[in-house]
Amino acid sequence: MLPQTWVPVPEGSDFPITNLPYGVFRGTNGRRIGVAIGEHVLDLAGVVERGLLDGPSKALRTATLNDFMASGRPQWTRVRERITELLTDESCRGNVEPLLVRQDAVSMCLPFDVADYVDFYSSKHHATNVGKIFRPDAEALLPNWTHLPVGYHGRAGTVVVSGTDIVRPCGQRKAPADETPAYGPSTRLDIEAEVGFVVGVPTLLGERVSTVDFADHVFGVILVNDWSARDIQAWEYVPLGPFLGKSFATSVSPWVVPLAALAEARVAGPRQDPAPLDYLLDAAPWALDLALAVEWNGTVVSRPPFASMYWTPGQQLAHLTVNGASLRTGDLYASGTVSGSAKEERGSFLELSWGGTEPVALAGGVTRTFLEDGDTVTLRAGAPGLDGTRIGFGEVTGTVLPAR
Ligand code: MN
Repeated sequence: MLPQTWVPVPEGSDFPITNLPYGVFRGTNGRRIGVAIGEHVLDLAGVVERGLLDGPSKALRTATLNDFMASGRPQWTRVRERITELLTDESCRGNVEPLLVRQDAVSMCLPFDVADYVDFYSSKHHATNVGKIFRPDAEALLPNWTHLPVGYHGRAGTVVVSGTDIVRPCGQRKAPADETPAYGPSTRLDIEAEVGFVVGVPTLLGERVSTVDFADHVFGVILVNDWSARDIQAWEYVPLGPFLGKSFATSVSPWVVPLAALAEARVAGPRQDPAPLDYLLDAAPWALDLALAVEWNGTVVSRPPFASMYWTPGQQLAHLTVNGASLRTGDLYASGTVSGSAKEERGSFLELSWGGTEPVALAGGVTRTFLEDGDTVTLRAGAPGLDGTRIGFGEVTGTVLPAR
């Protein structure tokens, strides 16, 4: 039975009562932890100050989600249940309504201090497309790809919140036809539409997290734009993987959607052939049915389906820790570019323009291959929620500024 909230929530809002994502907003009282409901933010620090919530009260009165994320799944569940009660019980309205702030009256901050950042490469369609474009004379998929979730360590310190401008990176690049490399602004600046998983509960060095323990460690889900300078990347990535072509900026959405809000979005896991090794198996394999949208200067150019990923979030976490590497609160791992089988489902402009050879049409007769200065890219996503509601993720947006 869908609980009814006394807060007015517009039809089609990303933030119905069944979502309740966490974020950090800056309003008249500085940086505070809040929860999105419709067009408002519920000031959670204010809820604690009014004595309306016991439990991890200190953790909810800080400027990041880290302490609350570290408090563990039983606390996450209790706080979510209490917030639902406060926003649905008419008798709470008098105490709680003064703690609602309009979202358009506040600015959103990075919701958590990012500990480590890992990016996977888990869409078979994406990996195949990139293989064909970067290595046209070789097998598109390298031999390890179907046996393990390939990934690399990104740069945690340059993860930025939605709305942060992206300065075009400079670097060393060499096209295949060039005799020698040159230095300058990237001319093949791109995006990658991805889904990110935020770790709450850490582990000790030497411990592993099995696929079934995923929900005891992962706090929630965000959207990620892994900005990528393809010319820098193509020259530098052999043999150790992406480096400066990725590390200049990674944008994330400001709202962390709790796993509990995505229970209805779970679908059967992907068919995997060959069968993965035991440590990557899940008793009940699952994927998440998130529908992404990529908007380029206001034109939706792609709708990548997250359910089409080959490796699942649980397998990624199991792989990330199988060597005993410890998890820290605030670790972020992203799925890798989400690309479906169809052309209009590709999650990067490298693929949409097929290496720059097939221009992408935007509104007003404009075409593009890679990003130009002043371009804005916005990612959105939605998932099925409880009782026919839609769980939205807000947006992650960024505008390209000229190189310095
Ligand atoms: Mn990526």
